[in-house]
Amino acid sequence: MERAALLRSISSSTTVFYSTRRLFHRRVSLSSIPSRHGLQNPNLRKPKPTLFVRHHLRPVSTFSIPSPLPFNGRSFSSLSPHAVATSQSDSASDIAKQDDVVAEKYGFEKVSEQFIEECKSRAVLYRHKKTGCEVMSVSNNDENKVFGICFRTPPSDSTGIPHILEHSVLCGSRKYPLKEPFVELLKGSLHTFLNAFTYPDRTCYPVASTNTQDFYNLVDVYLDAVFFPRCVEDFWTFQQEGWHYEVDDPKGEISYKGVVLNEMKGVYSQPDSLLGRTSQQAPEERAKVYSSVNRYWKALFPDNIYGVDSGGDPKEIPKLTFEEFKEFHRRFYHPSNARIWFYGDDDPNERLRLVSEYLNKFEASSARNESKIKPQKLFQQPVKVKEKYPASDGDDLKKKHMVCVNWLLSDNPLDLETELALGFLDHLLLGTPASPLRKTLLESGLGEAIVGGGMEDELLQPQFSIGLKGVSKDDIDKVEDLVMTTLKKLAEEGFDSNAIEASMNTIEFSLRENNTGSFPRGLSLMLRSMGKWIYDLDPFEPLRWEKPLMKLKARIAEEGSKAVFSPLIEKYILNNPHRVTVEMEPDPEKAARDEAAEKETLEKVKASMTEEDLAELARATQELRLKQETPDPPEALRCVPSLSLDDIPKKPIHVPTEIGTVNGVTVLQHDLFTNDVVYTEVVFDMSFLKQELLPLIPLFCQSLLEMGTKDMDFVQLNQLIGRKTGGISVYPFTSSVRGHEDPCARLIVRGKAMAERVEDLYDLMNVVLQEVQFTDQQRFKQFVSQSKARMENRLRGSGHGISAARMHAKLHTAGWIGEQMGGVSYLEFLRALEKKVDQDWDGISTSLEEIRKSLLSRKHCLVNLTADGKNMMNSEKHISRFLDSLPDREFSQRNIWNARLSSENEAMVVPTQVNYVGKAANIYEGGYKLKGSAYVISRYIGNTWLWDRVRVSGGAYGGFCEFDSHSGVFTFLSYRDPNLLKTLDVYDGTGDFLRGLEMDNDTLTKAIIGTIGDVDAYQLPDAKGYSSLLRYLLGVTEEEREMRRQEILSTSLEDFKEFANAVDVVKDRGVVVVVASPDDVDASNKMRPNFFQVKKVL
Ligand SMILES: [Zn+2]
Repeated sequence: MERAALLRSISSSTTVFYSTRRLFHRRVSLSSIPSRHGLQNPNLRKPKPTLFVRHHLRPVSTFSIPSPLPFNGRSFSSLSPHAVATSQSDSASDIAKQDDVVAEKYGFEKVSEQFIEECKSRAVLYRHKKTGCEVMSVSNNDENKVFGICFRTPPSDSTGIPHILEHSVLCGSRKYPLKEPFVELLKGSLHTFLNAFTYPDRTCYPVASTNTQDFYNLVDVYLDAVFFPRCVEDFWTFQQEGWHYEVDDPKGEISYKGVVLNEMKGVYSQPDSLLGRTSQQAPEERAKVYSSVNRYWKALFPDNIYGVDSGGDPKEIPKLTFEEFKEFHRRFYHPSNARIWFYGDDDPNERLRLVSEYLNKFEASSARNESKIKPQKLFQQPVKVKEKYPASDGDDLKKKHMVCVNWLLSDNPLDLETELALGFLDHLLLGTPASPLRKTLLESGLGEAIVGGGMEDELLQPQFSIGLKGVSKDDIDKVEDLVMTTLKKLAEEGFDSNAIEASMNTIEFSLRENNTGSFPRGLSLMLRSMGKWIYDLDPFEPLRWEKPLMKLKARIAEEGSKAVFSPLIEKYILNNPHRVTVEMEPDPEKAARDEAAEKETLEKVKASMTEEDLAELARATQELRLKQETPDPPEALRCVPSLSLDDIPKKPIHVPTEIGTVNGVTVLQHDLFTNDVVYTEVVFDMSFLKQELLPLIPLFCQSLLEMGTKDMDFVQLNQLIGRKTGGISVYPFTSSVRGHEDPCARLIVRGKAMAERVEDLYDLMNVVLQEVQFTDQQRFKQFVSQSKARMENRLRGSGHGISAARMHAKLHTAGWIGEQMGGVSYLEFLRALEKKVDQDWDGISTSLEEIRKSLLSRKHCLVNLTADGKNMMNSEKHISRFLDSLPDREFSQRNIWNARLSSENEAMVVPTQVNYVGKAANIYEGGYKLKGSAYVISRYIGNTWLWDRVRVSGGAYGGFCEFDSHSGVFTFLSYRDPNLLKTLDVYDGTGDFLRGLEMDNDTLTKAIIGTIGDVDAYQLPDAKGYSSLLRYLLGVTEEEREMRRQEILSTSLEDFKEFANAVDVVKDRGVVVVVASPDDVDASNKMRPNFFQVKKVL
């Protein structure tokens, strides 16, 4: 499950979160973030809810049929949900009176009620009289209903109690006595969101669904889980999710196992997240301090709970006892310490009834007082901290330092107005490539890429952090100086008025569009509200942004932007002594040292045990494993509520699509209510490109947006895009097309704007495509180093993605193209290119121009448009003009690339404590013919066989499989895995697992419903239009969608057994690619000689 770390934007693993709680997000994310990371099961292709994902290869899930949604043809008709009650009329006050009666009946009193215009919702805050539990009930007509319960869970050390508890409470409860009800819900519900998060000071359990019955089922399972979990009675959950000793043979080695332990080892193997942790909580014994006060500091937070790691330091986790764990639950998982959120179009009275059943069982406790978070007092003077991170021994270690400057901005929480102004300032400083602080740092040549997340306002006290990685040892001090002088200069000179206007438009657009991507809107609002509510502040305030924004706008207009922002920079940053500068030094021995230290500890443990102890431990290890691998009895499984197949709509979700032409070019139109926003994509065919130009495509895309034209430098171009539109992005898309040799390889230009700005939008797209000049060698060089840094980060943090890309490159052409633009091949290309920029810039510049020539043609393009009818009509003349301006070239020679990587097994060696293990094959080549049941089965394999063996008993954070129905490639993957060959054995056993499967009707129905939940994944209108475009490109027809749906709905146990043969193709001729630690790869090659070709990539 996801941990919302303190400096979550630094740690690449928690972006999903970061971009949602904030009032608005930046157009360009700061840290190099893998767009997909996960929740329980890191899904390879989950889109993230930023405005636009840039350079996103294959943005649609190839696992689920790209489809979506509403049930029974009911269409979700609004961007902003409408309220049930729209005014304070007589009828509204009647409703209010009735509400009071109901509230009284269930033991609540109404604290406050407000109508929130910004989200067209009626929000009522209740207090449960007996326990003091607060419930926020938000009503509107959004069908994507959200529930969440949050507890304040302040940790007192870094043993990771809150995090382990977060995992554990979902492992069975009083009413649902299963091993993991959570997994049963994953398998068989229509949830649009299901997860749990640990913050540094709180733990949240949110669920969402569009189906009301399903929604209440989810709520009930979650409430029972948090209040009555079995993990406080059963020691084995603590062992499984937290930590335990493992001994197979009393004479053999003893080791640590545990899901959270392994998850956190993965986190601590990533330099970026280590940097974030060091900024808040440098472990005392290792922090070297250069402050004039000669004492040790815990970085930003020496005196309060943010100085420890709620997620757990792998070194500290084994110190946690079961007693402490139970006591933590007893103290903090209590209604008196809980805040509950409901949102959506369901009956608000039913909410209170449901919750009261749980709350009434408790008496009041003092938890709410005990869990109060004390603020950190501001320092009198700045501090420096130095820490090491695990690196491999390369020759350029000198240039691998990281420097980050952090500030704690205030002693206390800020008011919304100041927070909004600081958020605005953050966007001005860092929000786009043209923002001055970001630009200055990158152009300085002092480092490769930005680190630090800028403004962070999710905790009690706001912070600001910024720095660089890939810094030379000699330049370390220069980074801090540059940050300070740049900020000083900006405080003195102010910001360009175009920059102010661009930021203002971007922020307003983002707030009004309220596009949370695949994240439910109600959840985004909950997290926003919780950011204040959890500290006993006003939960309504963060939802009402309109007034403070208008006030800020008016102040800027009257006083000028300098008068508004300069004092903020001075007060909160420049003159603020609570500054911590963190330097991270690469250490090639650190990984081995950590490993050795752990071994030593374990040997000591073993030495202290008698023979009987060890025999007992081996027996306990066996027992735990047996328990983990024994399925729940059917009667236990049945107690998890589920829908029946009758509740499932028989037809796929319809997206209106009209195919027409404008100036001879095909235009797809989707008439959907988009609240006056127009979304458009222009798609160009890449198959006329020369093969050797493919790896340049991502940099070509970046150059289009960030290099500037003859008349405008890139700053002006960026500001213009920011002022006139909601954003433009350019990226490649590749996929196999079922039944065709040739892959689909396209370049997509995506943009959005308010309806009255559509002309500007197409004009700017035209400028980007045709007028940008590829002449800025220095900027291009920066792009190359940033991309390189990003790829290196992905290798450590998302090794499963790298492994998957590599396997696909060995199996089909589209996979090969994808890997050229985003895999290890791409990293190798970038490393060579970095040198080439200096030696042969003219050559590169010519190649970029050649790419443009081979792409831009009216004859080989396609336009996609999502808007409501009236705006669609108005857009047509602008589309026509845009198309007219494109060259009329006819390309003749399509390139048949037909390239693959050689098919041997490969091990990519990186300095890490955890592995990513992949195996894949094309099952179509083994004779399998696609049926809808494949989606049900592969999903089932992931949620049962792989979950149980790779995660639960294997101790990996995740194990999953993916079936790409376009190419036919079936892929197994693991995530943060302590094993290697053992995991491959599990994969190979899948066929036998299916053959031996016994399954009752309930289980099968759940598997089918869960699959429909994926297929019908909730989408906002722009995503619907986009999915429809991709289906068009991949030749997926409406008839086929209906047929697949029927096949899904009629899946039988026979289908599972038949599929065993298809999966055996992976066992028998699959290719293996792992991203792993050198020790584990060595050991594997010893056990199976020459199994892996070894490739050192970091
Ligand atoms: Zn976790």
